Amino acid sequence: MKTIIIDPGHGGPDTGATGFGLREADIALQLSEMVGQHFGNFEDVAVSFTRNRNTSSSYPGPPDGLYKRIKYANDKNADLFLSLHCNSGGGSGFESYIAKGSPARTQRIQKAINESVLGYLKGYGIGPHGNATKNDTQGAHSRIAVLRDTKMSAVLLECLFIDNARENKLLRDHRFLDGLARAIVKGVATAFGLKEDKPKPMYRVIVDGQVIFDTAYEDKIVDAVTKAIQKQAREINLTKA
Ligand SMILES: [Zn+2]
Repeated sequence: MKTIIIDPGHGGPDTGATGFGLREADIALQLSEMVGQHFGNFEDVAVSFTRNRNTSSSYPGPPDGLYKRIKYANDKNADLFLSLHCNSGGGSGFESYIAKGSPARTQRIQKAINESVLGYLKGYGIGPHGNATKNDTQGAHSRIAVLRDTKMSAVLLECLFIDNARENKLLRDHRFLDGLARAIVKGVATAFGLKEDKPKPMYRVIVDGQVIFDTAYEDKIVDAVTKAIQKQAREINLTKA
């Protein structure tokens, strides 16, 4: 079982970067929720969020929201800390950060995410922001606490520039964001060798010639059959849908 902590950047009084009325904290939260949903399609993976509302952190701890997040992840003994952000400052494209001196496994995760995400973004004519594979001594950052002070592999993604008109428009597009979330999850799944969950079988339920469900999962079937038995049905028919 892999435990993944998804960290939607900023929140609460900290809006993060803004562009054309859009706030980084909101996009980070939206994207994080989508990423969490897509992890649901894989086996043996558990996901937790450092915040699930517009707060600086959902968890008690020292006053600085960042350190609450770090402590939360460390206490959970997680396998990956995935921090989601948008960039700003007049540029374009995607980049990711790990702490300088991160072990090979963290570098592998970063690489796999970058490959998947950049592959997705290519379809929108968007590329890397310079070299997309950075450590936290490169670029605008000098030391990123959530990367340095977490005990597990930690990767921070800067997903497009919120102050770039074209990228801002894409960040508002639900379908684009969902595809981006899927690409992020695909990268992590590749790095960890996560298997996609088998689709659960569905059945058609017919009771005394009447279709109760055209397609139903196990829990619905149990309900329907229980009811049918209570009503003393003569014939209960289950066929694979
Ligand atoms: Zn940020």
